[in-house]
Amino acid sequence: NRQILLASRPKGEPSAENFKLVETPVAPLADGQVLVRHHFLSLDPYMRGRMSDAKSYAAPQPLDQVMIGGTAGEVVESKNPHFKAGDKVVGMGGWQEYAVVDADQRGVLQKVDTTHVPLSAYLGAVGMPGVTGWYGLVKIIAPKAGETVVVSSAAGAVGGAVGQLAKARGCRVVGIAGGPDKCRSVVEELGFDECIDYRQFTDLKAMSGALKAACPDGIDGYFENVGGMLLDAVMLRANAFARIAMCGMIAGYNGEPIPMTLPQLILTNRMKVEGFIVSEHMEAWPEALKELGTLVATGKLKYRETVAQGIANAPEAFFGLLKGKNQGKQLVKLV
Ligand code: NDP
Repeated sequence: NRQILLASRPKGEPSAENFKLVETPVAPLADGQVLVRHHFLSLDPYMRGRMSDAKSYAAPQPLDQVMIGGTAGEVVESKNPHFKAGDKVVGMGGWQEYAVVDADQRGVLQKVDTTHVPLSAYLGAVGMPGVTGWYGLVKIIAPKAGETVVVSSAAGAVGGAVGQLAKARGCRVVGIAGGPDKCRSVVEELGFDECIDYRQFTDLKAMSGALKAACPDGIDGYFENVGGMLLDAVMLRANAFARIAMCGMIAGYNGEPIPMTLPQLILTNRMKVEGFIVSEHMEAWPEALKELGTLVATGKLKYRETVAQGIANAPEAFFGLLKGKNQGKQLVKLV
């Protein structure tokens, strides 16, 4: 069983020396346990936070242990009456090829139906990223038909779902993403009305000018994945009573300062700004997954995947995710 451990904590950008690849034999199963062969590992921006021991909403990843991570795979052996060999499952198996799971613990392993939804989608559009998008949009922004919703990191796993869910609710949807290829795909494949390539704009005035052109009626909802200048630019175009779902601040995950220079606009625009962590809202997951699962199964929710091959390539793919090399959900294929 090849595994990737956290070897050291990064200062600034993470690098290969922060990880260590090891091979360990799979332990025999005890009663209640299940052996899962991972087919896909999910790579997610939150992992950068876990690599650090700074104060956060979650405890840091311990050193010299298998990196935390969402996984999708197949049961190969079971000493648990609720699982049998061949079951497709998702869990938090970590950066490794196999996991021995104490499957009686509530929620550690979920069986999934791959008849209409591919296994990998349970780590993306019909999994944590999809639910994140659903929660921030539906519960925080709560858009009305005809309103304008802006989404940053629009070509990503979360952002792509947000925009399509907002379109389905009758909104005008404008994405923000890095580079012309991503912007083209966000409009042509995901169906956003427009997408702004933020890399073309180095100053606030130019960025907010681009938003003004794309959002002639102002901005009613903003799904924030990035922070910094993009947030300020949106604030300058926000309508009265606009809502901001604070989902991610990836511009600051390597420790860069991400100043918010216009907080007075929250007051003058009477805005609601709400941060959330999706795993703290488990009550919303069934409703969200029902909508997301139906939309994916019927082909109405499109999603993209960037797939690295083999566990040894997980660190490189993770660095790519933090630099925007991915389009849609970043996965590692393990089988
Ligand atoms: P993505 O698939 O969106 O991948 C990350 C993307 O971030 C990159 O592709 C890149 O896209 C963009 N990015 C990286 N650095 C910068 C930067 N400096 N400025 C602007 N954009 C940057 O990841 P996810 O969809 O998985 O996650 C999106 C966001 O949602 C993240 O911030 C994540 O932390 C957050 N999140 C929050 C959760 C919660 O519970 N609150 C749960 C899950 C995710 P580009 O090329 O467009 O720059």
